[in-house]
Amino acid sequence: MGKVTGFLEYERIEEGYEGVETRLKNYKEFVIGLSAEQAQVQGARCMDCGTPFCNNGCPVNNIIPDFNDLVYRNDWRNAITVLHTTNNFPEFTGRICPAPCEAACTLNVNDDPVGIKSIEHAIIDRAWAEGWVVPQPPKAKTGKKVAVIGSGPAGLAAAQQLARAGHDVVVFEKNDRVGGLLRYGIPDFKMEKSHIDRRVEQMKAEGVVFRCGVIVGELPKGSKVTNWAKERVTTEQLQAEFDAVLLAAGSEVSRDLPVPGRELDGVHFAMEFLPQQNKLNAGDKLKGQIRADGKHVVVIGGGDTGSDCVGTSNRHGAVSVTQFELLPMPPEQENKDLTWPYWPYKLRTSSSHEEGCQREFAIATKEFIGEKGKVTGVKTVRVQWEGGKMVEVPNTEQVLKADLVLLAMGFTNPVNTLLEGFGVERDPRGNAKATTDFTGGYVTNVPKVFAAGDVRRGQSLVVWAIREGRQAARAIDEFLTGASDLPR
Ligand SMILES: Cc1cc2nc3c(=O)[nH]c(=O)nc-3n(C[C@H](O)[C@H](O)[C@H](O)COP(=O)(O)OP(=O)(O)OC[C@H]3O[C@@H](n4cnc5c(N)ncnc54)[C@H](O)[C@@H]3O)c2cc1C
Ligand code: SF4
Repeated sequence: MGKVTGFLEYERIEEGYEGVETRLKNYKEFVIGLSAEQAQVQGARCMDCGTPFCNNGCPVNNIIPDFNDLVYRNDWRNAITVLHTTNNFPEFTGRICPAPCEAACTLNVNDDPVGIKSIEHAIIDRAWAEGWVVPQPPKAKTGKKVAVIGSGPAGLAAAQQLARAGHDVVVFEKNDRVGGLLRYGIPDFKMEKSHIDRRVEQMKAEGVVFRCGVIVGELPKGSKVTNWAKERVTTEQLQAEFDAVLLAAGSEVSRDLPVPGRELDGVHFAMEFLPQQNKLNAGDKLKGQIRADGKHVVVIGGGDTGSDCVGTSNRHGAVSVTQFELLPMPPEQENKDLTWPYWPYKLRTSSSHEEGCQREFAIATKEFIGEKGKVTGVKTVRVQWEGGKMVEVPNTEQVLKADLVLLAMGFTNPVNTLLEGFGVERDPRGNAKATTDFTGGYVTNVPKVFAAGDVRRGQSLVVWAIREGRQAARAIDEFLTGASDLPR
């Protein structure tokens, strides 16, 4: 345990942010991580609970009390060893995880939780700075070949685990760079892409081969899914050439809003808008970028993707940004007696909201209004929820000025043509059907074809994708060799 009386003596310290004016001038990360001393004080607050709820609240089951204690004792080297036993990429989660572990922390019952995410962030940044993160190539090769389709966090975690177990792993990625939504969804100001690049270098040194710009199967005609593929391989080719195939292709079909005026110029999916800015930040040239400068922007969808559209629009120089959410405004404070240790339903204000955004709750979009084919406004109506059903409030229709509308209402399912290409059965939500059972988990109905991450569970979080990638790697290793030492 850190310091026996630490939780009584010390307060939680939040990570700092650069000021709004400074951070809106660029797309760089602006979170100021804890100093080593601050992280030690945070580690000292941990009570090393007999039943550490944090560890159960964390989807990768990070061994949180142990690394808290090691940081308190200034033993950073062992702290990163412990952290890496459960999480391949703590630099991703230390930046963008919503931290369900903190909601579950026992201190959160009647005090502020331990700043677990900020400690994770401090440990991994220190480890990279000290040169402690090095390739771990396998001691022996198995001669088995595994194809991983998709280089998001699920595909990357699986590929790293499988390569370390001695398999020959090839990652196929239809986009021009590795990373999935980490690369072409999540804005740079939340996570700079150099974090992905150095992991890719580490993984290459461990034997993973990356083939970017190669699509497996094909997209349906007219698909708006991001795709910079220059080459195509068929599902049959992969099945013939590899001993196992992992689908880690994400859930890329955006939920649409088919109201009158949807076809107007200026109404776009968030995933048409966000990847373009990330590409420009990477130094690429783009023709006809969707821009928010000088525009009244309406973002439809109150979640993370919507919040990322808000932050990006403000960096472009939007005149106004309004974000719609269908549901009523959640309470500012959760009722901890009812919610702990689970993820509470409460109002969440992101750093992007703080940069400038009008948030509207309990509002629905009836129509996009336009002139000469271009969107000029959004017709809305107030709604209320009765018995779980949405009902329009009479006489509340309004038209809000809008020159750019971004649809950020989540994702419905993976691209069907890929699943159909392999003959993979889908669950009722349209995702690849596979269980997470300890034995025989992650395998689909098609022999030697496995599925993990958003393609299997539906749109989710980076930390869940890492968990599924790790667990699927173990399942594949067991399938290929009859046994596995890889952790779940
Ligand atoms: C804008 C946005 C912001 C988000 N912010 C957060 C956040 O702050 N925190 C958080 O935890 N989660 C966040 N998420 C969710 C998170 O990014 C996803 O849950 C996670 O990336 C899923 O990982 P994955 O590996 O399953 O799939 P993905 O990251 O979607 O990767 C799938 C990859 O497969 C590739 N692919 C698909 N089909 C093919 C094919 N046929 N051939 C070759 N390649 C193919 C795709 O190009 C893609 O690169 C966000 C999502 C979005 C869209
Ligand atoms: S629940 Fe909180 S206080 Fe308890 S071990 Fe985990 S981090 Fe420490």
